[in-house]
Amino acid sequence: MAVDIVCVGFGPAMGGFLTTLSRNLVKEDGTPIAESTVAPGLPPQVICYERADDLGFGVSGVVTPARSIKASFPQLDPAQIPMAAPVRHEKIAYLLDPIGASRRSLPLRMADRLIRAGRWALPFEHQALNLPWVPPFLRKHDGLVFSMGQFMQWVGAQVMGAGTVQVWPSTPVARPLFEGDRVAGVRLIDQGTDKKGSPVDGFMPGMDIHAALTVVGDGPVGAIGRQLDERFGLPEGNHQYDWAVGMKLVIDLPPTANLEPGTVLHTFGYPEPEIFGFMYVHPGRIASLGIFVPSWFDNPVRTAYRYLQHWMLHPYLWQHLEGGTLRSWGAKTLQESGRRGEPYLAGDGYARIGEGSGSTNVLTGSGVDEAWATGTLLAEGVLELLQAGKPFTKENLEQAYVGRRRGSWVEREGRAAEKARDGFQRGVITGLIGMGLVGLTGGKLSMPGKLLPPHRRLPTIEEYYRGKIPPAEITRLREECSAKGLPLHGALMDRAGWPAIPYDGRLLISHQDALLMGGKVQAPAGYADHVIFVDEGTCVQCGTKICIDACSGQAITPGPDGVPAFDREKCVYCGACLWNCSRPHPTDPERSVVDFRAGAGGLHSAEN
Ligand SMILES: Cc1cc2nc3c(=O)[nH]c(=O)nc-3n(C[C@H](O)[C@H](O)[C@H](O)COP(=O)(O)OP(=O)(O)OC[C@H]3O[C@@H](n4cnc5c(N)ncnc54)[C@H](O)[C@@H]3O)c2cc1C
Ligand code: SF4
Ligand code: SF4
Repeated sequence: MAVDIVCVGFGPAMGGFLTTLSRNLVKEDGTPIAESTVAPGLPPQVICYERADDLGFGVSGVVTPARSIKASFPQLDPAQIPMAAPVRHEKIAYLLDPIGASRRSLPLRMADRLIRAGRWALPFEHQALNLPWVPPFLRKHDGLVFSMGQFMQWVGAQVMGAGTVQVWPSTPVARPLFEGDRVAGVRLIDQGTDKKGSPVDGFMPGMDIHAALTVVGDGPVGAIGRQLDERFGLPEGNHQYDWAVGMKLVIDLPPTANLEPGTVLHTFGYPEPEIFGFMYVHPGRIASLGIFVPSWFDNPVRTAYRYLQHWMLHPYLWQHLEGGTLRSWGAKTLQESGRRGEPYLAGDGYARIGEGSGSTNVLTGSGVDEAWATGTLLAEGVLELLQAGKPFTKENLEQAYVGRRRGSWVEREGRAAEKARDGFQRGVITGLIGMGLVGLTGGKLSMPGKLLPPHRRLPTIEEYYRGKIPPAEITRLREECSAKGLPLHGALMDRAGWPAIPYDGRLLISHQDALLMGGKVQAPAGYADHVIFVDEGTCVQCGTKICIDACSGQAITPGPDGVPAFDREKCVYCGACLWNCSRPHPTDPERSVVDFRAGAGGLHSAEN
């Protein structure tokens, strides 16, 4: 099949691109701004493929300044979008450790003691210190709180309502089509295969979609963006060593909760000092809440699910959550290298937008507004080229898109934020000071820190727990868990002093129940596995097996002969295994042993 423009992924970046493009492909008198090269007489034919089973099945509870979104929809009324509300109250709280299991450095323990001693004079409540003010660079006033899923469904309706572009969910794109170094379109995923990708009954090879322009907005772990990076590399000096796993819930708050829609709470300090938390209140007594487990948290058993539950149980949050009920749950990683992780933004026949193009601002933790803005900038450039009758060559895209991007606020703010998190490589306190310095000086001052890929920074389990759990005991726990087919993290956290979670069947439920009740994960039959261990020999030798412990969906388990087993039916497509694997790829140390390919299924919820 041939179209003029083929698009990969329907996240906010593509929302921005298609919103601007779809409104401008036809002039007011009904004539096209340029004629399609594949359907003469018609406007350019544009088709967008989304991997997930429906639009808006991604994960992200969002507070956003929404500058670029409001520029696209100047009359935007949040009441039109389910779960959207204007930001009303913003608070940041430092959570102290109420149970004594958190792994805190000596300076942090001393700071905690000082805070407790002076709590009568401080804004201290429920074992937490409310910061007296929200630094200006973190404020989202005038912004919006919304559910990304609901917002993207609303955007999808607007875009398709224009009648000039098509968006197809449930259609994963398997790979770019190359003609030399030109991207000539995409190939969709094969259907009717076994787990290894070999044809079985009903086999349908993935269709080739030829296009003059391929727009790639497939997010932080998109298979198409990564294949482009493998082929073209990253620009000199750029790397993608920083990421975070975001795990979240959408809940019905209890009737006793007294939080106004538009309330935004951010926390740090607990359950481990490196873990950040968020809670956004939507209309109808609904809240999105969750944690980010960042790449600089060196625990090789970084299980987000259990940490999420301990975080909810902190008295500062539990005062609002007790009696609440889970509506949905999910996880997704964030590419947090920001401007430093930027790939080549354009080449012959293709352009990159959104988080996979390095747009996320690592100082403000803002990704949606920036992703949307990069999409609109590309659309403006594409419209300019279409009107001028110029082809989508690297040179033309550099001028029309990359030039616009370099002159935009996304670039200016992304550059200023570049070093915001470097200090975290040396500890939480230096990290927070570094963020403050960058935020208050517009990036002129920062805390230095050396960023490393996981295989060069992650300690072994024995090293991490040195002085706390003897190596012989770790070996015994590892053998016991392996025999039961269980990840090791639960046993290690119990042993490190974390209490058992008091399951209540409503909000505090087991990880398996969260997958069934909250994640609603589905994996249609007939597709190949998308998580592949590319060098099984390395996996056998691997001591941490962090892919098992970090797996958000318990989809990776101890397998026979030391090679982990992958169960597609539990995979939530978060990408944590790809980022967390502690061993380098055998031929490319910038990649890991996990290959994360395009695949079908995943979370089934448009609330996240
Ligand atoms: C838990 C969590 C909380 C967050 N909170 C905030 C917040 O409060 N504020 C904020 O501004 N940002 C937040 N973010 C970040 C924000 O969600 C991202 O920066 C933003 O979604 C990036 O948009 P994008 O369009 O580039 O990519 P994505 O939103 O990742 O969209 C990419 C799309 O491409 C699809 N795709 C991938 N591969 C393929 C393929 N092969 N074929 C077809 N489709 C494919 C995916 O399914 C997805 O729908 C949060 C993220 C998480 C995980
Ligand atoms: S995928 Fe990576 S972390 Fe998992 S066992 Fe293999 S080498 Fe270890
Ligand atoms: S296997 Fe799936 S659920 Fe598990 S970490 Fe990888 S992407 Fe996430």
